Amino acid sequence: MSSVRKSAYQDVLHREVKKFEWTGKISEKFGENVFYEDKMREYLPEQAYKSIKSAIQHGTKIDRNIADVAASAMKEWALEKGATHYTHWFQPLTGATAEKHDAFFKPIAPGRAIEQFSGDLLVQQEPDASSFPNGGIRNTFEARGYTAWDPSSPAFVIDSTLCIPTIFIAYTGEALDYKMPLLKALNAIDKAAVDVCKYFDKNVSKVIATLGWEQEYFLIDKAFFNARPDLMMTGRVLFGHPPAKGQQLDDHYFGSIPARITNFMREFEMEAIRLGIPVTTRHNEVAPNQFECAPIFEECNLANDHNLLLMDLLEKVARRHDFRVVLHEKPFPGLNGSGKHNNWALATDTGVNLLSPGKNPKSNLQFLTFLVNTLKAIHEHSDMLRASIASASNDHRLGGHEAPPAIVSAFIGSHLTSLLDDLEKNIKAGKMTPADKTELKLNIGKIPQILLDNTDRNRTSPFAFTGNKFEYRAVGSLANCAQPMITINTIIARQLQLFKVAVDKRIEDGNGKDEAILKELQKLIKESKDIRFEGNGYGEEWVIEAEKRGLSNLKDTPSALKVWERQDVIDVFEKMEVFTKRELLARQEIEYEKYIMRIQIESRLISDLTQNHVIPVVVEYQNKLIQNIQGLQSVLGDEAGQGTTAQKGILIDLSMHMNKMQEFSRTMLENRKQANKIEDIAERAEAYRDTVKVFFSQISYHTDKLEILVDDEMWPFPKLREMLFTS
Ligand code: ADP
Ligand code: MG
Repeated sequence: MSSVRKSAYQDVLHREVKKFEWTGKISEKFGENVFYEDKMREYLPEQAYKSIKSAIQHGTKIDRNIADVAASAMKEWALEKGATHYTHWFQPLTGATAEKHDAFFKPIAPGRAIEQFSGDLLVQQEPDASSFPNGGIRNTFEARGYTAWDPSSPAFVIDSTLCIPTIFIAYTGEALDYKMPLLKALNAIDKAAVDVCKYFDKNVSKVIATLGWEQEYFLIDKAFFNARPDLMMTGRVLFGHPPAKGQQLDDHYFGSIPARITNFMREFEMEAIRLGIPVTTRHNEVAPNQFECAPIFEECNLANDHNLLLMDLLEKVARRHDFRVVLHEKPFPGLNGSGKHNNWALATDTGVNLLSPGKNPKSNLQFLTFLVNTLKAIHEHSDMLRASIASASNDHRLGGHEAPPAIVSAFIGSHLTSLLDDLEKNIKAGKMTPADKTELKLNIGKIPQILLDNTDRNRTSPFAFTGNKFEYRAVGSLANCAQPMITINTIIARQLQLFKVAVDKRIEDGNGKDEAILKELQKLIKESKDIRFEGNGYGEEWVIEAEKRGLSNLKDTPSALKVWERQDVIDVFEKMEVFTKRELLARQEIEYEKYIMRIQIESRLISDLTQNHVIPVVVEYQNKLIQNIQGLQSVLGDEAGQGTTAQKGILIDLSMHMNKMQEFSRTMLENRKQANKIEDIAERAEAYRDTVKVFFSQISYHTDKLEILVDDEMWPFPKLREMLFTS
């Protein structure tokens, strides 16, 4: 066996289980490393605490003096937690989180120092951020970026560093991160939803979006991981013959979890709990070595910070257990990839989930209002939803019969479907009689009962209503949930605004409030009907049917990214004050760039590995075969004929696959050079898709054949069956 593969294999076979034990109640540890409100109250003077709390609630600016007091309280708390450094923790458009650590420590005289942290340092910093993606924003203005404290997400201590969640913006004000537009979108939905809630309950003064994500991931032993340059560099294997046994037997899903993994999970969950991430669910996923972690839902901005933090934690804790975590959407061919379902709903400060049916006709009308407006928004802006989850890595998964198709549609279940159909038909055009109203109310009042029986969940739908929330299932496992959450909240906020205007107009025109609402809902139900689909989202028939309905099918990232430059899309974001046109186009450019880079790196690596690893091994094996054939012939002479048939056949097959692999590899390289010359970034991305990426599967077809033909002892890379099944 090749030495790297062999030693990796040996390492894994002899790997020790690293035990992780802890005693005590989880509840006692929950949030112990977070500067939550109760800590704020404890460490801050009354007045400062109140003014920060009010600033958080109303999104207003925090006074510098108060910031000084807050900084000093935070420092005091963090020092007690053993922190020595602090950092502004932010979410640049690379997709990862970024941090630059500074010490609290400050020398003040020879041999003397103090621990220092001022309000200025808390509120604003200027990281040397010239190498973060900005889509031309900072280049043009020659401005620098700065980070600014987001007091709505609490600071936390991790690895002796106080982390302060911040937004990242250019001096000219444009967002350079995911957090700032997310906060703006959440503000937009708050305002728009509160306005609509007032029809039903005057006491509602705040609406928050809630997010419950479900993170899928693979765990691979670090020895195997490091012996696969492709996995190490690109997060996925670029070739590898699928193992004879994959996930066909469904024996992994919800199966018992091996001790090494349980210990890892215990440790990382404990770390998560201490950071206030309410993780509760863990189970095996469909593919071998694939798992899922899901916390209880939280306010969207906090939930997203927690998801990013958890992805970091997974990585850190996995290393302690000699694993590497693989978050790519499709790390292994032939096995299910990973996603990150985004469960989304809206909640009022009066404790009502607006997407949960209520107890009486009035609260159910409110529920229907939010349900129907959501459907309408998805219908109007489905392309934006699609574009919000586009990435080179997620392209492998969408439409792959394991994740939703690239066609956006919504599932609401048969009962709600028939209720909406009823409303569509039965609301009369003219003035409603009291009897009409009573009948409608009766129908609407029945929702809670019918939903209880409504167990027909559709796993193939990208945007499914699941009883009290919508679940957006097309989000990739690697993604920052902010992009889809920015989009969903913005388009629904916009729709709610339009709804408010339309209903007010109907009331002005002499309709009663309920009547005005019902009539407007009826109109929206009609207009958005085509987005509803209850059938099999994986079927070929749906592709045809969706086309008939005029729904888009944006199959890949370059096609999806075009959406961001459309005038209607720019209009929505500008109206809701979430993105300016400049910010949106900058983001589009960054996404194109990321797409091209990913394909470029993968393509380079494929060339390297086929040249440096595969060809030498094939040639060596061929020489072995040639020696064997020559030997047989020299000993047996003419009688050798039959005895060399198999060897000669293999020899020829090897040459054939090697030649094809080489030929494709050369053409791919040539095409890459041509693509790099294309000035326009959208065209360059398309060229990468059409003339470079297309060769990936062609090349791996031949490398996978070679893997099967070449002596197992000689193959240089750990095989998929070894990586996924050795324990
Ligand atoms: P699954 O999709 O695996 O069947 P569930 O339907 O039980 O799982 O719930 C999935 C996720 O939905 C959980 O992580 C939960 O926190 C989240 N969730 C439940 N209610 C809400 C809500 N109102 N808003 C956002 N997320 C929610
Ligand atoms: Mg789910």
